[in-house]
This record gives sequence, structure tokens and C-alpha cells, in this order.
Amino acid sequence: MLKSAPCGRKKVHEPSSAGGAPQSWEEVLARFLREKSLRLTDQRRKIASIALSHDRHFEIQELVREVRKNHPEISPATVYRNVKTLCEAGLLQETLENRSGVTLYERTESGHHDHIVCLDCGLIFEFHNAAIEKAQTKAIRTMGFIETRHQHVIYAKCELIKK
Ligand SMILES: [Zn+2]
Ligand SMILES: [Zn+2]
Ligand SMILES: [Zn+2]
Repeated sequence: MLKSAPCGRKKVHEPSSAGGAPQSWEEVLARFLREKSLRLTDQRRKIASIALSHDRHFEIQELVREVRKNHPEISPATVYRNVKTLCEAGLLQETLENRSGVTLYERTESGHHDHIVCLDCGLIFEFHNAAIEKAQTKAIRTMGFIETRHQHVIYAKCELIKK
């Protein structure tokens, strides 16, 4: 019998992830595209390779500039579409909004962490606090949810610390 989730959604079977050796981003992307009956084209590979070379947070505008510097034939719209695809494939993630409200991305490979954005200087700090993570998980579990992902961003002022 189907049981209803807290949001009203009917429970469905979660796709079981196939185990095995870790895959390269090319394998992950190619497999994701194959499931959508799409091919890993040369353009897709070029965009992915530049996007996934970022060690830190970046905004799409930055990526568009970098891609077009080397490959002016690739349109900004194509870059935008491919960033969406990379997120859906689980290789990139929308990770936070900076103090101007611009969405930033980073590789999922950098592992889970949360962010502090300084409203004074705009710098972004990363933090990971096991106690917070555990408390969050427990809080939503008691409400009947199983987490898929979360973003925890604190907008703060470093000025206060200096005084
Ligand atoms: Zn977290
Ligand atoms: Zn600051
Ligand atoms: Zn980060």
C-alpha cells in the first residue's frame, strides 16, 4: 500500500544506485546523457571540462567568459543549458547565493559543507559542523522527511569581530 509522505506526495521507489568503482566525470556524464538519449558531444565535453576545473565557487557569467575565450563558437545559452545538465547529472551543485543574490556553483566532488557569506567584504567561508548536520537530520526525520540535499548559508558581518 502506498503511504503518503509529509508533503502529500505518494511514496515511490527510490532508484537504487549501482555500486562499483568510482567513475570519472566523463563516464558519469556520458551515462546520464545516454539515459536521456543524448550524446556527449565535443561542445558538452569542452564546457564540462572547464566547469569542473573550478576548485571553488563560481557564477555562470564567469564560466561563460572562460568558455567563450577558448571556444567563441559556443553560445552563452549553450553554457547555461549545460550547467543545468551538469547539475542534473550530479557533478555540479548550486551551492549558495552570494551577497548580491547571484547563484554560485561548485563541484559536488568537494564534498558537503555549508557557507558563511560576509556582507561587509563579500568573502565566502566554508564550514562543516557535525553537530548541526546531525541536529538538522534529526529534526526533519521526526517530521517524516529523508533529506536529499540542503544548503545552509549564513549571511554575516565580519566587521563586528574586529571591533
Ligand atoms: Zn550542511
Ligand atoms: Zn568580511
Ligand atoms: Zn563551498
